[in-house]
Amino acid sequence: MTNSDLIIVGGGLVGMTAALACAHKGASVTIVDSQSPETYQTADFDGRASAIAASSFKMYRHLGIDKRLKGHIQSITDIMITDGEVGRYISPLSLHFDSKDAGGAPMGYMMENRLLRRALYDAIKANDKITMIAPTKVLGFNETPAGMTLNLKDHGELSASALIAADGRNSFCRKQTGIGTETIPYKQKAIVTTVVHEVPHDGVAHELFLPGGPFAILPLTENRSSIVWTDTPGAVDAAMTLPEAAFAAELTRRFGDMYGQIGPCAPRWSYPLSLQMAEDYTKGRLALIGDAAHAIHPIAGQGLNMGLRDAAALADVVHEARSNGLDIGMQLDNMQIWRNFDNRVLAASTDIFNRLFSNNIAPIKHARRLGLGLMDKIAPAQSFFINEAAGLHGELPSLLR
Ligand SMILES: Cc1cc2nc3c(=O)[nH]c(=O)nc-3n(C[C@H](O)[C@H](O)[C@H](O)COP(=O)(O)OP(=O)(O)OC[C@H]3O[C@@H](n4cnc5c(N)ncnc54)[C@H](O)[C@@H]3O)c2cc1C
Repeated sequence: MTNSDLIIVGGGLVGMTAALACAHKGASVTIVDSQSPETYQTADFDGRASAIAASSFKMYRHLGIDKRLKGHIQSITDIMITDGEVGRYISPLSLHFDSKDAGGAPMGYMMENRLLRRALYDAIKANDKITMIAPTKVLGFNETPAGMTLNLKDHGELSASALIAADGRNSFCRKQTGIGTETIPYKQKAIVTTVVHEVPHDGVAHELFLPGGPFAILPLTENRSSIVWTDTPGAVDAAMTLPEAAFAAELTRRFGDMYGQIGPCAPRWSYPLSLQMAEDYTKGRLALIGDAAHAIHPIAGQGLNMGLRDAAALADVVHEARSNGLDIGMQLDNMQIWRNFDNRVLAASTDIFNRLFSNNIAPIKHARRLGLGLMDKIAPAQSFFINEAAGLHGELPSLLR
């Protein structure tokens, strides 16, 4: 039987980050995933790119992940939010966040999920405190007074003081433990793809609010942008089946003339959207982190950042327990106390934000346009939102400081 301080089920971006963060604080970790690491070496694995908040990026600096991604990180220097029409990105009522107004540091960093996942995996392989077992199948787990045991197909039994479930929104561990969820499906889906364009983006992230949902153009390295096009399920399904040339023409119409010629598109992915919150984050020696605990609308690009804050908070809880000679598995309630409120506030804000902007009701439309225009002129409101976007609010775990 392999014994470690922690077992993490789920080697996605959150699970792998949590493994590295806890190992950084001295814990031994075994991480298991049902997918082979070979899959994320290929170009057709997960077409999403993530906006990593400035605070989350600090953790990646502490863990040396920024160096492994050298040349693949794009800073976000400006965010432009416009309530409007297809192809019209800047209006007198746009809300413009400029990093120069907040001291000049980027508000966030764009990186492609596939490359981030590969960098995390390489860091795990080089870390002698972490053992990764993948692909494998979790057959079940059991809590005993001494700890947790996990049974794997073809890999026997593992034991640890605590079991961390980072196995995504359909979490097997959460279901096995009987923790319920509150789920609100959105009548929206998102298309994600990457395009090359003629005119440089200069680090500007655009979010254009249209009646079906936000259309985001997020800067990537080498004059490319990641598109997150949220719309009604019917519109998304139709766009997914468009021939390549027709899809490119529709994107060109949506970009307007802002970035000149729009070049070839990468493959398209589509994602159904819902808000899903676990009723509890912990049960005995098990804790949920990442999408297993909370999955939110991508409107503000905060879902992964919430999971990364869980990972950093877990590392502090583990460190505190180890420094005081305490049983880690018995200290997980501190995670619940720390993360639950923060995550619920953010989830509720993104939900309200999406409802407010994804409609075409005339009085609401006029009020929100006026609201954006006003907020653009009020410096304290601006710096509040810049700090929120950068994840610099609340009591920050040590790796995020
Ligand atoms: C369109 C879109 C755009 C987004 N953009 C952003 C953004 O810009 N910024 C941001 O912060 N967030 C963003 N998000 C949210 C973000 O992508 C997710 O919150 C994040 O990927 C969740 O990571 P995770 O590791 O918790 O879960 P997952 O990525 O789902 O990983 C779960 C892992 O667990 C493994 N697994 C599952 N079941 C088992 C099992 N039974 N046994 C073993 N392993 C198992 C899986 O193989 C997988 O590796 C976006 C989401 C969407 C849909």
